[in-house]
Amino acid sequence: MTGASDPVPISVVAHHAFCPRRAWLEVHGERTDTGQMAQGVADHGVVDEPSSSRATRLRAVEVLSQKLGVVGRCDSVEIAADGVMTVVEHKASPLRRLPEATYPQRIQLALQAACLREQGHPVSGAAVWFTTTRKRVPVELTAQLLAEAAQQVEATREVVDRDAAPPALEDDSRCARCSHVSVCLPDEHRLRPSARRIAVSDPAGRVLHLSSPGSRASLSRGQVLVKVPDADAVSVPLGQVAGIVVHGNADVSAALIRETLLRGYPIVWCSWAGTVVGWAAPADGPNGDARPRQHQLPGPRRIAAARSIVSAKILNQAALLRRHNCDERASLRELARTAGRARSSAEIFGLEGRAAAVYFAALNQVLKPGWATIERRTGRPATDSVNCALNVAYSLLLADVLRSVVACGLDPSGGVLHSPGRNKPALALDLMEEFRAPLADSAVVWALNNGELRGSHFRRDLDAVRLTAPGRKALIAAYERRATSEFSHPEFGYQVSWRRAMEVQARMFLGFVMGEFDAYRPIVQR
Ligand code: SF4
Repeated sequence: MTGASDPVPISVVAHHAFCPRRAWLEVHGERTDTGQMAQGVADHGVVDEPSSSRATRLRAVEVLSQKLGVVGRCDSVEIAADGVMTVVEHKASPLRRLPEATYPQRIQLALQAACLREQGHPVSGAAVWFTTTRKRVPVELTAQLLAEAAQQVEATREVVDRDAAPPALEDDSRCARCSHVSVCLPDEHRLRPSARRIAVSDPAGRVLHLSSPGSRASLSRGQVLVKVPDADAVSVPLGQVAGIVVHGNADVSAALIRETLLRGYPIVWCSWAGTVVGWAAPADGPNGDARPRQHQLPGPRRIAAARSIVSAKILNQAALLRRHNCDERASLRELARTAGRARSSAEIFGLEGRAAAVYFAALNQVLKPGWATIERRTGRPATDSVNCALNVAYSLLLADVLRSVVACGLDPSGGVLHSPGRNKPALALDLMEEFRAPLADSAVVWALNNGELRGSHFRRDLDAVRLTAPGRKALIAAYERRATSEFSHPEFGYQVSWRRAMEVQARMFLGFVMGEFDAYRPIVQR
């Protein structure tokens, strides 16, 4: 990852001093968005500006040590009248925590001081300035601390050059306050129930759907401004938007596209009929090493993952039917068992098709009589209202899974079940299978049975049935409600939204690709 002569960033050494796995994740591009990180970034906005320097206090000072092989930036360097310097690091700290310098912070300051000394400057002291509590805590630059800092540099270099991340810590209190817990998933990596909820600032992640024909979203003073023809404009703070899905002939400004990508979120475009037509992803997505490995997965591992995916899909279809007391659930469970033993893609697809025939015929028993007209799954163009609603719900689901796949750096095209032929997002299609029944189908069934979708929301153009604009809006609302609702994760035990579960599953697939797991385990509803 780093060349032998490349300097290691001091911030990465500090991450390593906290936890070696965190240093590896950071170097491999994983981003985090906890509230504390956001506070830290906001606070650094002041000190990251060199033009705010004075003769007695320099801001944002770049430093380098050839001897140690590190590079970094000091938030603040204070210069006394005799020219002796003190390095000061600005940190946001949780309000309840005592303002004391942590071990990683002391290592960071020791390395900054070592750099300045190597450049010929006298440095006598160091301190941490806690921006939230406005307290200054001195750090003594002892010979032992400087020696430990040099050892941390060597250890960091060894860890970040590894092909795979070091194992997650086990039952360690550091994980509870770690900024990277939402991407590291320490308990999930041990495949056991989690002691904690996943700590992300907005677990559901707000997705902005531009669904009104002719609407346009643009950036205006930190807000996403959405203008809809013949309606009042609405605005949402940019920080609350975790992705954008554009439907039909809605539009997004170039500035908003750029800012969304800079923040690490993808944008997905869907046709009015519900096909995903494309997406834009950040250029600096994480885990670049995973993408070639994804395409080189050995055949037996591919087939094993494909078997699990289809088996889970069928079991989740059976779970939906069970909630509505349909008899067909027993035959679906039998097909799922057989799929779990299948030896080829053709066999797996054959069993998936047989299960689909049973499941979609049984959906008539789940739907209220007026809607119970579905004979089979028809795809596009839809020949009845239920298939039309399912098509749109599946495109919303595909857009969500695509966002999750891209967020953890995987290639949407490198799947194990679907073929990437005709440039399909094969992995996203694979990973959405386990979510079809519990998320998309459930949202459609709910919307149809509870009157959110009505007959007037559909129109027939020749042989094809389409959703009207109000119908699409109603279906998106039903889907969003389901995507942000929480369920008890069958394997890890915590409450999690369906949308967050998609990202967890994409990360479990990432772990499978990187060899951290011997199998991919889809979600199976009990
Ligand atoms: S969550 Fe725990 S194991 Fe993972 S990077 Fe943070 S401290 Fe390390």
